[in-house]
Amino acid sequence: MSSCVFCKIVEGQLPCQKVFESETVLAFKDLHPQHPIHYLFIPKKHYVNVADLPDDNGNIMADLFAAIKTVAEKEGFAEKGYRNVINTGTWGGQTVFHLHVHLLSGRTMSPSF
Ligand code: AMP
Ligand code: ZN
Repeated sequence: MSSCVFCKIVEGQLPCQKVFESETVLAFKDLHPQHPIHYLFIPKKHYVNVADLPDDNGNIMADLFAAIKTVAEKEGFAEKGYRNVINTGTWGGQTVFHLHVHLLSGRTMSPSF
């Protein structure tokens, strides 16, 4: 059994509020939303973060961003816009060590980092 929280969600051992699922990607609402819309897109296969991806990583990031595009269009905020954030490692502020892309939307954001 995996000790990774997001693997547990993929395996159905922990609940989530699912917003998208494909063969390779799962997306669900963040437990502690920082924006009116705050979803997490994860590969079903475990990778720690971007730094852990093999050089030949197939279509993992492409699958994640295709899913993001699909959800934004389906939920009607693609035109208004959104922000994606990927935190990598301690300096990057990563707290859950299973690769994930944040999707933030629902209000205007400052253009700063
Ligand atoms: P990061 O700082 O990029 O590693 O972000 C991890 C995110 O995962 C945070 O925004 C948490 O609120 C979120 N999170 C942690 N546990 C869960 C969970 N069980 N279900 C949904 N979101 C979670
Ligand atoms: Zn995992």
